[in-house]
Amino acid sequence: MITNDIGLVSKTSLERSVVAVGDVRFGEGFVVIAGPCSVESEDQTLAIAREVKSAGAQMIRGGVFKPRTSPYAFQGLGLQGLKILKKAREETGLPVVSEVMDTRDVSWMCEYVDVLQVGSRNMQNFSLLKEVGKSQKPVLLKRGMHSTLTEWLNSAEYILKEGNRRVVLCERGIRTFETYTRNTLDLSAIPALKELTHLPVIVDPAHGTGRSSLIPSMSLAAVAAGADGIIFEVHNNPMAALSDGDQSLTPTEFSSLNGKIASLRSFLDSLN
Ligand code: PEP
Ligand code: MN
Repeated sequence: MITNDIGLVSKTSLERSVVAVGDVRFGEGFVVIAGPCSVESEDQTLAIAREVKSAGAQMIRGGVFKPRTSPYAFQGLGLQGLKILKKAREETGLPVVSEVMDTRDVSWMCEYVDVLQVGSRNMQNFSLLKEVGKSQKPVLLKRGMHSTLTEWLNSAEYILKEGNRRVVLCERGIRTFETYTRNTLDLSAIPALKELTHLPVIVDPAHGTGRSSLIPSMSLAAVAAGADGIIFEVHNNPMAALSDGDQSLTPTEFSSLNGKIASLRSFLDSLN
């Protein structure tokens, strides 16, 4: 059960929070974010940014600090990557989201990104939560891979308590005994969170499944379950991606799926 001391995130009325990032409004309509798992080079990121924009994405994603299981795996381009993301935003006009992993990076990263992502592995990094809570940037708070809804909402509460009310929750799958999928995407979290909190909730079917073949069906299911948006990993050459190629859509696949999402949304709207 959610307890009374998760007061700021709790749903107290029918009012839902809208988190505005420029013209993008989480919690009103539907927000599609797309981009590579990692920023690998200027050419790769700008090419993908152009493709996802023309396919209808409203925001760009791209990691420059990567939480990799192996310390020998690609760790991200850091500042160089942020400069590339800034170029992508200048060229496409789309706001940018990127993961922050370290409290020391929060304030200077704010100069380069429009939304700070707190990743699954850091959902209970309380120092980081407090630091992003002190910033004025919107925060995309991913669900910890072992976290209950109450733990997740408590993490959001840390951010709101520091004065930053602009939090978007992102369901990205939890660890279960299943190994065919990378994680188990908990779509029941969407309607459950709608009962518990006023914060917008989006879904990440890439990390939630680990397999690009499963992403279309899980995305449509997320729309039907009431998600406020989806974040996709898109790569122009998934086989050669430096991270998460198996769960990355090609620009063509993304474009086709985005069309289906729009059709499903109009159908669902016609039912109301
Ligand atoms: C990511 O978005 O690339 C990422 C590492 O996500 P998560 O924290 O959900 O694993
Ligand atoms: Mn990834």
